[in-house]
Amino acid sequence: MKLLDGRHTSEEIRKELSEAVLQRKKEGKKIPHLAAILVGNDGGSLTYVGAKVKACDQIGFESTLIRYDDSVPEDILLAKVQSLNEDKSIDGFIVQLPLPAHIDELKITQAIDPKKDVDGFHPVNLGNMVLNLPGFLPATPAGIVELLKRNHIETEGKKCVIIGRSNIVGTPLSILLARNSNPGNCTVTLAHSKTENLKEICQQADILIAAIGRPGFVTADMVKEGAVVIDVGTTRVEDPSRARGWRLKGDVDFDEVSKKASHITPVPGGVGPMTIASLMINTLKAMELKGK
Ligand code: NAP
Repeated sequence: MKLLDGRHTSEEIRKELSEAVLQRKKEGKKIPHLAAILVGNDGGSLTYVGAKVKACDQIGFESTLIRYDDSVPEDILLAKVQSLNEDKSIDGFIVQLPLPAHIDELKITQAIDPKKDVDGFHPVNLGNMVLNLPGFLPATPAGIVELLKRNHIETEGKKCVIIGRSNIVGTPLSILLARNSNPGNCTVTLAHSKTENLKEICQQADILIAAIGRPGFVTADMVKEGAVVIDVGTTRVEDPSRARGWRLKGDVDFDEVSKKASHITPVPGGVGPMTIASLMINTLKAMELKGK
């Protein structure tokens, strides 16, 4: 079994991005600037946004974190999105999801200028992805594709089963892996909670991807010998042995599945760092697309 080490692979990408920043500095060009809006104090969101800001610092990007209380009215948030759309110093920005229940996430996502939508969630960017036109790819699916590519995982002609059909992971990933490209050219099955015979379907997968949010859901009996297994899940589970009282657990029973898989991602340290790396790639791209 070989570990698909997202930390290591994302480090390679960060180095490349740092070099691009240094080159831009030498040429007197603008440095990419990412802004992030964070609403509330959800522990997971704080961690994810913190990691994104830290990645900007490491690479040499500028970053701005904008925080609101979780009682912020929707119109205030929409006005902030509008001001970031118009702010020439900001190349790309994200609104960290999930948002409190009184705010319409779709409305906020649709208010973001697609040219600054470095999370790739705007319908224009999702449409461009489907048609294979230039735009921003959603960070987690793009990160997984990059992880497969940089670790020389053959995808052409392979049977790929993705469990989970969310708009931010499973559905866009199914499109990217079915594309006529490399990585791509997979025969993709997109499974979800209504899928019948899920175990038998998973057993046929050369590449099995779990994006469900149910710790340990994928057990060894669901996995073909030699399969490539990608675990997107990140759920906080209680862990009294840790000072903070919890740890992250993936959707795959790592200990058992790793005995059968040819390659497998750990949680943490697999897909998560690749998601952040993709966001950084998109931020550089946002600036380059503007011709700056
Ligand atoms: P989500 O919106 O929570 O949706 C979960 C999906 O799993 C749904 O499509 C659901 O099916 C499916 N599902 C639930 N129970 C199932 C079952 N018993 N059998 C088969 N399918 C089942 O998903 P998400 O936002 O993509 O998040 C999934 C996980 O990935 C979470 O743990 C999240 O924290 C993690 N995540 C990690 C990263 C990262 O960078 N590492 C990024 C994004 C998300 P239905 O559609 O039928 O309800």
